[in-house]
Amino acid sequence: MHDIVLIPGDGIGPEITNAVTTIFDKVNAPIKWIRCSAGLSAHEEQGDPLPDDTLEAIDNYRTVLKGPLTTPVGAGFRSVNVALRKKFKLYSNIRPAKTLPYIKSRFDDVDLVMFRENTEGLYIGKEQWIKEDSHAESIAVVTREASQKIIRSAFEYAKKKNRNKITLVHKANILKFTCGLFMEVGEEIAEEYPNIEYEDLIVDNMAMQMVMRPEQFDVIVTTNLFGDILSDLASGLVGGLGLTGAANIGDDAAMFEAVHGSAPDIAGENKANPIAFLLSSLMLLEHVGEEKLADRIRQAIFYTLKDKSVCTPDIGGHGSTTSFTEAVCNYL
Ligand code: NAD
Repeated sequence: MHDIVLIPGDGIGPEITNAVTTIFDKVNAPIKWIRCSAGLSAHEEQGDPLPDDTLEAIDNYRTVLKGPLTTPVGAGFRSVNVALRKKFKLYSNIRPAKTLPYIKSRFDDVDLVMFRENTEGLYIGKEQWIKEDSHAESIAVVTREASQKIIRSAFEYAKKKNRNKITLVHKANILKFTCGLFMEVGEEIAEEYPNIEYEDLIVDNMAMQMVMRPEQFDVIVTTNLFGDILSDLASGLVGGLGLTGAANIGDDAAMFEAVHGSAPDIAGENKANPIAFLLSSLMLLEHVGEEKLADRIRQAIFYTLKDKSVCTPDIGGHGSTTSFTEAVCNYL
């Protein structure tokens, strides 16, 4: 049995969580869920978006499956996602984007994995007003140590999964110190992996290349903000945010989550596509050594995609979260 902290989250979070636990129950997955809360629901119920008992559970069990959390825009509490990534030093955000069978998208041969540095860049929360209401400043931080960790984890992943090419994305022509350092570390580490092709691209060019010819990319590694934007772009290439999973991995903790948000516009309507969260939960299964079980569930999901009557509306289906879940269970 693997003890996993489960945070259903806000908005559609509880609905897609239910899909995962139902399917895992169906195959008797050796997982014991430790249910905890975080986000807007925790803020409203317990007065704290990241309660102490949730932090204690993560500290204790170190592996988490987390639903989407609502972050108020502008004023209000800061992102719990960012806080968790920082606190547990989850420096690698890993997002595969692969063309799925029976899903209509603009391309039919995308198979890339995005490695996004998860703890630094412009996301460190160092913002200040220089002059209230008219002049604000954000600070971006890039360190050699964090750059080494994310870039090395991308190379190690490529080596382990027999992938051939790493593309490092930056803006070192303008951000000469921060992106310059990231790129310098990339070049140093690339020398240690002579069997893996290495290139670097400026982020604006990368955005165009990904839309024009995504099949040329394999493993991509980049800083926090660029990774945030490009990984959503990558999801768009394979059919949208409802179809890609994500892992946040550190040296001694890991958190798996759907890449989309809490989708308040469809929350409670049984319309949420559970596939992204399911794919994240399969990354979790692989992480704890249950690769065969993950493959089995993945095949059932792919098979179920064939039948549009059970799929959710965002992927052209006429079904619901529960009809999709039931169909996967029936197939299993
Ligand atoms: P969102 O991803 O919640 O929604 C964007 C659009 O995609 C909406 O139309 C929504 O209905 C649709 N959508 C998203 N997931 C879907 C799914 N599984 N099935 C079907 N349709 C889906 O993005 P947003 O509206 O910008 O953000 C809403 C909230 O989510 C915000 O508070 C934001 O901070 C938060 N958020 C959280 C995370 C996270 O927890 N990792 C990530 C992104 C956004």
